[in-house]
Amino acid sequence: MKDNGRDGTEYELAHDCIYGRVALQAVDVRGFAMPDKNYTGSCQCGAIAFEVTADVDRSITCNCSRCRRLGAVLTFVPAAAFRLTADGPTTEYRFNKHVISHRFCPTCGIQPYATGEQDGQTIVAVNVNCLDGVDARALDSQVVDGASA
Ligand SMILES: [Zn+2]
Repeated sequence: MKDNGRDGTEYELAHDCIYGRVALQAVDVRGFAMPDKNYTGSCQCGAIAFEVTADVDRSITCNCSRCRRLGAVLTFVPAAAFRLTADGPTTEYRFNKHVISHRFCPTCGIQPYATGEQDGQTIVAVNVNCLDGVDARALDSQVVDGASA
């Protein structure tokens, strides 16, 4: 397990690679076809809200330095499948290669989504925990070992 703690260079490089790889898998499987179910979601206070068309059966959990702290359950969609309906201010956090834009609400602290680029396409990593009517813990999520990748 390569958790290098606060420095974390090797570990967080792997984290970015995992985001890219999982996003690529999602794109390959779907061929950018629109997945089949519509959801609404938000941060806790509602300043950030969105609609997304996603297949939550394709979700991941990850034990990397960020995901394990967040308890993240993620699903990846092309930007066309994601639409903000409440565009409140977000704080952006980037680390390591700075290729993933993590967006969290400065009021309630919840991170509803992150964005990144994959082969010139914008990919949105949606926090399944923020979706209305979805029990993220009941999903059979793919477990990604970001900590030792
Ligand atoms: Zn909020």
